[in-house]
Amino acid sequence: MSEKNVHPESLMMTLGYNPEWSEGSVKTPIFQTSTFVFKSAEEGKQFFEVITGKKTLPPGQTNGLVYSRFNNPNLEIVECRLAVYEKGAEDACVFESGMAAISTVMLEFMRPGDIVLHSNPLYGGTNTFFKSILSRYHIGAHGFMPGDKEEDIMKAIDAAGIKDKISVIFVETPANPNNVLIDIAMCVSIAKKLSTADRKVLVVADNTYMGPIWQHPIPMGADICVYSATKYLGGHSDIVAGACMGSKEHITRVKKMRNNLGGMSGPHTAWLLTRSLETLKLRMDKQCENAKVVARYLRSHPKVEKVYYFDQFDNPEQERLYKAQCSEPGAMISFDVKGGEAECFKFLNKLKLIKLAVSLGSTESLIQHPYSMTHAGVPEDIKAKINVTDKLIRFSVGVENPQDLIADIESAFK
Ligand SMILES: *Cc1c(COP(=O)(O)O)cnc(C)c1O
Repeated sequence: MSEKNVHPESLMMTLGYNPEWSEGSVKTPIFQTSTFVFKSAEEGKQFFEVITGKKTLPPGQTNGLVYSRFNNPNLEIVECRLAVYEKGAEDACVFESGMAAISTVMLEFMRPGDIVLHSNPLYGGTNTFFKSILSRYHIGAHGFMPGDKEEDIMKAIDAAGIKDKISVIFVETPANPNNVLIDIAMCVSIAKKLSTADRKVLVVADNTYMGPIWQHPIPMGADICVYSATKYLGGHSDIVAGACMGSKEHITRVKKMRNNLGGMSGPHTAWLLTRSLETLKLRMDKQCENAKVVARYLRSHPKVEKVYYFDQFDNPEQERLYKAQCSEPGAMISFDVKGGEAECFKFLNKLKLIKLAVSLGSTESLIQHPYSMTHAGVPEDIKAKINVTDKLIRFSVGVENPQDLIADIESAFK
């Protein structure tokens, strides 16, 4: 049986680890060490020649273990498993947070004078990094809104005189907090139009909400997927971590940047993430199944005004995008409660099983009020544009019995 034909979920327990390395231990131990002993001075010299880029290894060969900022078995094992999970990727790079992944990727592929063309709305941390931090290094950002057509975006960047300055297109889809899809194929098409023979414009997709199970940006033409592995990949609300996946060439460059910036995950985080990947498909399947049941219930509830979930569409363009880029509706539901903040808070305060907390994608259900919590820092005019009002609630559905979730919602609304 060739590993190429095996489903990723079947490889997550064993791939990249040999029990002979650790007394036959079936599970990967935690290599809680900062440094590794060389067999000889010559070996140490040889490993450093690779680290410093003086020598490149033949394909398929990995460098010896040196120092845990450069490499560590836990980091390498989880990376080899993530590379298998992301459709179309050849390699993965793991970080201590999603923001470390996003910032390292952007710093590797952008130069002063460049512009990042990005979808809106963005995750708050990403938005702050683009607008307040990259700008200090003379890297600009130009956003487009959900629903903007390719022609409109091309016209806008032409008018702004930035057409030949765009080096990265960053797309986050579905957009948080109210489930709006952005067209990945359109971003790929714009990148093709802006690329020249000696300058390829990269498409970076934040796949945190749907990947790697329900959405595959790389086969659609994206170059790199970035993740907050704190969410579904980690899935137990016990780690903050990040990842990016892509071609060997791109990920090698990201790893070099990470080796310098130092955002790699530690052995314990990498080990917990490895544990999480064993149940990734099981968890996400169950969370999605639960979300479908809960969304149906919410749609019928007299105190709920509107449900934002991909089981139903009132916009044909959104339905077309859903069919083109997602295989399942996922496990994030947003909904408007009849009333405003007071009605939302009353409901949130009465929930017992469902926990009032930010973050998402975990085994336990989490719920929050974006207007006053995750999106409190977004300017009012933008909040209005992206339809984030004080009656909106964001619900990350967990793996509980769905009837218990419904019972909790029902009694909290009473
Ligand atoms: C949480 C999140 C991030 C940031 O990840 P951290 O792990 O918190 O650093 C980035 N993008 C999206 C879509 C997220 O939900």
